[in-house]
Amino acid sequence: MTWGVLAGRQTTLQDHATVAGVGVHSGRPATVTLHPAEPNTGIVFLRSGTEGRRDRELKAHFHSVTATEFATVLGDKNGPAVSTTEHILAALRGLGVDNAVIEVDGPEIPIMDGSAAAFVSAIDQAGIVTLPASRRYIQVLKPVRVAKGDSYGELRPYLRGLRIETEIEFDHTLIGRQAVALDVEPGSFRRELAPARTFGFMRDVEKLWSAGYALGASFENTVVVAEDRVLNPEGVRFADEFVRHKAVDAVGDLALSGAPLIGAYRSVRGGHKLNHAVLTALMADRSAWAYVEMPESRRRRSYSDIAAGFAIPAYGSEAS
Ligand SMILES: [Zn+2]
Repeated sequence: MTWGVLAGRQTTLQDHATVAGVGVHSGRPATVTLHPAEPNTGIVFLRSGTEGRRDRELKAHFHSVTATEFATVLGDKNGPAVSTTEHILAALRGLGVDNAVIEVDGPEIPIMDGSAAAFVSAIDQAGIVTLPASRRYIQVLKPVRVAKGDSYGELRPYLRGLRIETEIEFDHTLIGRQAVALDVEPGSFRRELAPARTFGFMRDVEKLWSAGYALGASFENTVVVAEDRVLNPEGVRFADEFVRHKAVDAVGDLALSGAPLIGAYRSVRGGHKLNHAVLTALMADRSAWAYVEMPESRRRRSYSDIAAGFAIPAYGSEAS
């Protein structure tokens, strides 16, 4: 969330930026080009490089989700188009970019080092500019909870912006139970979340490979956990890197709301599937959220004024 004087305005990138690598699941190479976009475009994926077929355009929206097994996949009636969208979306949301076109010439966003750091660097390289259009937020008005087995996720009202609370529990001595909670704004996202990498268990590798997942996984892009230790020579970046990565995934998956969220998200033993289910449940309950924008007169004021400003719905209930 970009608080302060710019919080009321939409943003986009100042210039283009390019990132290239391989997909962690497909193992396929791809180049991503981030493009600036007009106000009210939102985040749009442009799948290019499909031989003999037209480029496909997909809004980064929860309605476009076609799969959530080990990654969030977006597609349309013609099938899946782009896989592993969560880390680049987390970087855009984490740094407060409202409008951008993510062109990708392969079936999967490259995993880079397994974290959101390369996408943060690309956005920094491109620069962020404000646009002459007010930013519309989605404010959570009442708690919405989804439970699946021993995991659950909940979005609840929280006026200070987007708060993420993730908790994991693995039957593994190295990880056990970990929890992280923080208000997501550009500074905290960069420092606390962006460097946290994808992780996987050595014991699951065979199973994943035979199911067609993790074909591009390596020590370069995944924290690999064996019985009693991390196999990567450089070790971990944070003692609780695992749960921080879950928070990155949550920021990216919740960016599919289509507008910045004002609310707190809590995920316990969850993942992409749960993130998607909670966001879908919130948006389906029209009494649980409202579009709001920050009134012009509130923009220069103190935090409490800003919070009060959010209580004023800017759009009618017909808005979608
Ligand atoms: Zn992830």
